Amino acid sequence: MYPQIDPTVAYEGPSADFASFTGSPLWGYGIDGILDRAAEQGWTVASRARLNTPYGLSPLVVHLVAPNGRDVVWIPSYGEVVGEDSLYHLNFEKCFWVIWQAGVKVMMVGGTSGIADWRQGDAAIIPGDVVLPWSFYTRFNHRGLPGTQYESMWSKCRFLLGDPFCPELQGLMASKLTPYVESGRIRSVRTPADTRVAMIVPDSITFESDFDILHWMAISKTASEIQPERPPIVTLHGDCLNPLLSRYLGIHVLYYHMVSNYAHGLEPEHDIHSTINHLYTQVFPEIALAMELDLLATMPVPDGSGCQCTTSLGVAPPSFSQSLTQPV
Ligand SMILES: [Zn+2]
Repeated sequence: MYPQIDPTVAYEGPSADFASFTGSPLWGYGIDGILDRAAEQGWTVASRARLNTPYGLSPLVVHLVAPNGRDVVWIPSYGEVVGEDSLYHLNFEKCFWVIWQAGVKVMMVGGTSGIADWRQGDAAIIPGDVVLPWSFYTRFNHRGLPGTQYESMWSKCRFLLGDPFCPELQGLMASKLTPYVESGRIRSVRTPADTRVAMIVPDSITFESDFDILHWMAISKTASEIQPERPPIVTLHGDCLNPLLSRYLGIHVLYYHMVSNYAHGLEPEHDIHSTINHLYTQVFPEIALAMELDLLATMPVPDGSGCQCTTSLGVAPPSFSQSLTQPV
């Protein structure tokens, strides 16, 4: 996919245990607006630059320092660059190379999304809810890190994808969101304990078609009926920043989604255009930024006892790799 990879590139960015990739929940402010608001709360910007990576110039990497001195890497909006193709997510490799080199242990990602819930009534997830997701749909671009020891896996090791989004950190975030629910600014917080929400990234450059959404709803309803003793399954349509590579690198992922709309075609009366800009500019940013600055400054690095993020990787016997063609 890349014209070339330059493995000799040296990392010249910050080091940090914590990173944020949050995107559209903060789109109402713009990068400078976010940094201005962070500064008002005692954060400082130690550096902001696009860095050289083996795959070309990275997206903007901001080194923030919290009022308590904690270092945080912030890569705005999933690492997307204006005008660059986002379908193949070539920015993923640049971003993950940066946070690998930075030594990041916890990464937070906030997204906005459309909900495709086949249920009706109070149980259904609707716009205004915040979802802490259960799982995701794997895609071809959820791959390794080309040109590094993390490019491939099968013969060397394997990891499992149970609980891809750190349950320990989900619990912490749910408690932080409680005041927003009590004040009515968020309708409710939906966790895997009440609904198993799977994240789907659209396979094109815009929202899904009517058929795409029915396709996923049929799958979700059938899958729920297969496991009636467990919480129902629904799909959430938006971003999903390579949970495979996060796990391979041993990073705890805290993912949250602010539900901004019904999935396209689901509610004939629902006009996405009429609501989405208001939510993005007037509702989501204040809540998301307050929560992010709080958690990024205070949340711990989980010790691994309450999640699988750093413990699901198993090393294979050497004979597995000896059974493949050897590199030159
Ligand atoms: Zn974890």
